[in-house]
Amino acid sequence: MPAASTNFPPDEYLSESELAELHEMLQKQLHDLLDSGRQAVHDASQVREVEADELDIAITESNRDFALRMADRERRLLKKIRHALETINQGEYGTCESCGAPITFKRLMARPVARMCIDCKTEAEQLEGRGRFF
Ligand SMILES: [Zn+2]
Repeated sequence: MPAASTNFPPDEYLSESELAELHEMLQKQLHDLLDSGRQAVHDASQVREVEADELDIAITESNRDFALRMADRERRLLKKIRHALETINQGEYGTCESCGAPITFKRLMARPVARMCIDCKTEAEQLEGRGRFF
């Protein structure tokens, strides 16, 4: 880790109350996600029950694909939230996993699952973007 990472102004680091606020926010997101996950599973089973007409099956199938894709995205978010809560427990929350710089409270309030500072995130997205077709 570069020595410079210890020289950030103290107000860049999270205070205890800021950390508590983010912790609460993450737990709320976790609960909301688990609730909507249950709802999505329920909706998917509802869809299956109503597929009476053969003509509707294609539509029903694509709806189910959509539900599964949503669930996949939610699963990924769930993993991120759990990881964030874990790093809070370990006292490592709010630090960029790439360069070790503190992630600002403002950024974390907008995106509590952020694992990188804005500079590293931007760089990572640019690298990622090169291999993408759309
Ligand atoms: Zn960084």
